[in-house]
Amino acid sequence: MAKAILFDAFKCTGCRGCQVACKQWNDLPAEVTHNTGSYQNPPRVSEDTWLVMEFREVENGDGGLTWAFGRHACMHCLHPACVSACPVGALYKTDEGPVLYRDDRCIGCRYCMLACPFEIPTFQWGAGLFEGAEIKKCTFCIDRLSDGREPACVHTCPSGALMFGERDELIAVAEARIAEHPERYVNHVYGKDEAGGTSLLYISHVPFEQLGLPKLGSAPVQEKAKDIMHIATPVTLGAMLVGLSGIYWVVKRRQEMMGKNGGSGRQGDREA
Ligand code: SF4
Ligand code: SF4
Repeated sequence: MAKAILFDAFKCTGCRGCQVACKQWNDLPAEVTHNTGSYQNPPRVSEDTWLVMEFREVENGDGGLTWAFGRHACMHCLHPACVSACPVGALYKTDEGPVLYRDDRCIGCRYCMLACPFEIPTFQWGAGLFEGAEIKKCTFCIDRLSDGREPACVHTCPSGALMFGERDELIAVAEARIAEHPERYVNHVYGKDEAGGTSLLYISHVPFEQLGLPKLGSAPVQEKAKDIMHIATPVTLGAMLVGLSGIYWVVKRRQEMMGKNGGSGRQGDREA
């Protein structure tokens, strides 16, 4: 059975315990950020921050303001566009729910970053392309799940805003909460159908756009991934051809110079 996480934005207090627990469990370093005029920090997910709590103040309908805390991390989609876009199978979907990554297959093309409708995969910009730079994102704490434990973010949440369990059961919990408090919640479970369904489910007291979630239909977003493959593959191949042509020209030119200078080809030899 597929596992999932239910996030209840009404219950969230914005303490960021989940964000810290994610860093702690995955041994991710702190990063230098800057003030963007919000309590949200850092501004978005990165190679060192796989879960960001988003802070927004929104109108509450009574002329005042209320907090809307959004959760930005991998949604572990049921039909992941990142997996469809990856030309080498570096990203893959497991039966249990998590969408995982094999660094030994990744060629660094970053199609997954273009394909993801939630803007999640992050490239290790600090590392050079030939220094083993990887794509980074939430792993659904697969190392905890395989040990029979819940994800670190869920485990640490003090307000009960996060729940872990079977996806079908969490959808039932979410719909029951909405039915019990229709005056409180938007009448929709985000992620039940969006983009073909996701393993992160949301219920909220404010419209989901105010939590930073994109408006998506129920069709999987894999069409976008196919478009990227159709457009980007020729571009990538073109860039590779230009690069290889350049290398070929340099090698050929060097051989010509070596021939002219009796085999050495070094600038100093020619001038001597
Ligand atoms: S949210 Fe993005 S990175 Fe995560 S599984 Fe879906 S498409 Fe892939
Ligand atoms: S960068 Fe993304 S699309 Fe490219 S190989 Fe790596 S995981 Fe796959």
